[in-house]
Amino acid sequence: MMNKPKFGLSYEFFPPKSDEQKVILKDTQKKLRETHPDFFSVTFGAGGSTLTATAETVIGLKQHDTPKVIPHLSCMGGTPDDIKKLLNKYLDHGITDILALRGDVPSGMGSVGYFRYANELIEFIHQEFPDTFNITVGCYPEVHPESVSLDTELKYFKRKVNAGVDRAITQFFFNPEAYFQYVDLCEKNGIDVPITPGIMPITNYSNIKRFCGFCGTDMPRWLHYKLQSYGDDRKAIQAFGTDYTIRLCQQLLEQSVPGIHFYTLNRAKATLDVVRALSG
Ligand code: FAD
Repeated sequence: MMNKPKFGLSYEFFPPKSDEQKVILKDTQKKLRETHPDFFSVTFGAGGSTLTATAETVIGLKQHDTPKVIPHLSCMGGTPDDIKKLLNKYLDHGITDILALRGDVPSGMGSVGYFRYANELIEFIHQEFPDTFNITVGCYPEVHPESVSLDTELKYFKRKVNAGVDRAITQFFFNPEAYFQYVDLCEKNGIDVPITPGIMPITNYSNIKRFCGFCGTDMPRWLHYKLQSYGDDRKAIQAFGTDYTIRLCQQLLEQSVPGIHFYTLNRAKATLDVVRALSG
């Protein structure tokens, strides 16, 4: 068991889709639990089986006393009644934290949610369950892909926070300056929740390039070429990616961030290597 790091830590998982993925997550959460995280969070997909898949994973992780488990819930979670049932189920299991999101509309499905934006979902949660849930939200230091300007980004983020939010976690980024600028702007605009940086360790060039594409994360040109230069040498990519992620986190921690949230993709090694190096 590692000593508890001096900074806040949390890890995001997705609900496993197969028996093989279940085994991987079981191993991953066990290893990451040993680093004393503040919480685990579990993502929410769009529509259908995801309602049960997220809840099953959350309840499975909750069998241990620590850490806290935070289910993600998006506006794609069905009717207000569906959402109420799910929230009641979470309460039955002692879960009083939710990461509330709009979610992304699956391509070709048009609009599938009852609520249009995360702030509406948050208002609904507080209205139906007064003083019950702590709400975490997502935010975008490099600007959400649908935002037309930084002004509208901040305006809608502030509206969301004012709906009753305790904490925000950022989309993943590679440029620490984007995060610092954003936090500064939020403070100047009266957005006063802690903003935890979300970090995705680099382990695979084509995957991370794809994620950057749909999340609107800017991958510096030099980083593209650097990762490309390793070709199929996965070990070399992982070694470079781990060093890069350690340096990024160090720059963030030097400025006393509220904690670091890792997008683990259900794998332990890369995140553990980074956390161990930061805690050493
Ligand atoms: P919102 O805050 O609702 O904003 C969405 C866009 O609409 C922004 O451009 C915003 O500026 C704009 N906007 C907001 N309000 C208004 C308004 N009233 N009028 C006009 N425009 C408005 N996705 C999933 O599907 N499942 C997950 O589990 C998941 N987990 C995530 C975790 C984190 C930490 C983060 C950062 C993202 C996550 N996402 C997840 C992705 C997220 O769902 C998408 O980025 C989505 O496109 C936006 O969600 P949001 O809650 O930030 O949206």
